[in-house]
Amino acid sequence: MNRDEQIGRIRDRSRPWDILVIGGGATGVGIAVDAASRGLDVVLIDSSDFGKGTSSRSTKLVHGGVRYLEHGNISLVMDALKERGILRENAPHLVRDLAFIVPSYEWWEAPFYGIGLRLYDLLAGRYGFGPSRNLSRDETLERIPTLKTEGLRGGVIYYDGQFDDARLLINLAQTAFEQGATLVNYCPAVALSRGADGFITGAIARDEEQGEEFEIRARSVVNATGPFADRVRRIADPGAVPLLAPSQGIHLVLDRSFLPGEDAIMVPHTTDGRVMFAIPWHGHTLVGTTDTPITEVSFEPRPLQEEIDFILDTASRYLHRPPGPRDILSAFAGIRPLVKEGEGKNTASLSRDHVIHFDQNGLLTIVGGKWTTYRSMAEDCVNHAVMLGSLDERPCGTRHLKIHGYHQNAVELGDLAVYGTDAIAIQALIRAHPELAGKLHPDLPYSAAEVVWAARDEMARTVEDALSRRTRALLLNARAAVEMAPRAAAMMAAELGRDRDWIAGQIESFTRLAEGYLPGRT
Ligand SMILES: Cc1cc2nc3c(=O)[nH]c(=O)nc-3n(C[C@H](O)[C@H](O)[C@H](O)COP(=O)(O)OP(=O)(O)OC[C@H]3O[C@@H](n4cnc5c(N)ncnc54)[C@H](O)[C@@H]3O)c2cc1C
Repeated sequence: MNRDEQIGRIRDRSRPWDILVIGGGATGVGIAVDAASRGLDVVLIDSSDFGKGTSSRSTKLVHGGVRYLEHGNISLVMDALKERGILRENAPHLVRDLAFIVPSYEWWEAPFYGIGLRLYDLLAGRYGFGPSRNLSRDETLERIPTLKTEGLRGGVIYYDGQFDDARLLINLAQTAFEQGATLVNYCPAVALSRGADGFITGAIARDEEQGEEFEIRARSVVNATGPFADRVRRIADPGAVPLLAPSQGIHLVLDRSFLPGEDAIMVPHTTDGRVMFAIPWHGHTLVGTTDTPITEVSFEPRPLQEEIDFILDTASRYLHRPPGPRDILSAFAGIRPLVKEGEGKNTASLSRDHVIHFDQNGLLTIVGGKWTTYRSMAEDCVNHAVMLGSLDERPCGTRHLKIHGYHQNAVELGDLAVYGTDAIAIQALIRAHPELAGKLHPDLPYSAAEVVWAARDEMARTVEDALSRRTRALLLNARAAVEMAPRAAAMMAAELGRDRDWIAGQIESFTRLAEGYLPGRT
């Protein structure tokens, strides 16, 4: 994926595209994959980097969502369980089965949660990841040795999926590109253009690198900007009634010693009635999340102190060694683009179903849903976009479409497993340039070759792109990521033809950004 070449394709285009997708998160990139694989002519622009929004800040679960069972939303759970199975089939290098243990400290918990989880198994049908069952106290401790032992009675084990969200997003962007889509990052839609009848006919986009603006005309314009969807709708119609009730969720990343095994912990009822997870992720422990209604959406939401305290407090109720503020290696926040349902509801109870909305000016907006269901959301959205633009009706082909990097036994690729088949190309790069083999930091598994690869083949344009979304250094250990920045900046400058000022500017802005991931440390 070469950015200059992609921008050139957009600039040189005189005919309208079939579909313009605004927003390069899971929703938008999923739509680009779907539309391109139907043979439609699709262009996607993102104002920042692909995945800069919520799609790189999730809990990283491919799941049906056990907690939605409690809300009685059976069809949402069934759809997500089916999509969970499809995603594991199409991207086995990225989705892995994960065992979750629900520890029980009260007599009623194991039978109560045991029944709910058996229903979850049943709803998965042939897409099941493994049967749930009750565990004895000894079995529970064998699997999670760091659990508090006092009062522990046993537990329930069930299975779901885990993935790397930003990596899947990049692989999906590559898949869309291979199917013929045109995608470009750092290119916001700054205005929407209209025809004589007042209907939206495209967007004015700005290439943030060259400062140049151009019009992109399309027969259907899809607003897939997640938490920013109302903002984009208001560009076209300042009076548009908001669709979203955004809510923030944060995660803390701790050392692996807090959860040294292979299994995750699921707490079905925190003191505020939510679900919380502690999950092994890339050799660390990921704990979250929260659900805090917010009024302003931003590209860099920050964890609130009360959210951090809440997660530390909840973890301390279950873990033998309570984590404290100084154990936090990184803290990151994401914004759920939840769909409003009247007034006064707390966001935790709002539906995670997606909604497709048409404004009278013809702008098609898709919001809500979740990462796990991105494929079925895309199918639904493209069906609507085809109708809107009177495009050729062709069947959706993503049910069996292998995602870029597809590899059935990626574990054999070691630290490069998440790249799937691309690992072979990265290994070849290292053989050709052995100086790129070294790790960029002793506490993280990332090699110099991965940064070069990100800039050369994955459209990484900044140090943040390389250290936050192509590798996950920033989210795993923000301090280590800052220490990696000077080398990463120098390597990227060599790849992208940038000068010393660019290097200095990148190091400075990345360091400032990373401070926000280290609450209480700076
Ligand atoms: C804390 C948290 C945990 C979650 N955990 C899970 C989970 O474990 N599993 C799961 O299935 N789901 C999970 N979700 C839900 C899932 O992450 C989201 O539903 C999904 O990522 C939303 O993707 P999106 O593409 O709609 O939005 P985003 O990822 O936010 O993408 C929107 C994009 O639009 C771009 N944009 C904005 N304005 C413009 C403009 N003017 N021009 C061009 N581009 C623009 C932004 O740069 C951004 O890249 C979680 C969500 C949160 C918040």
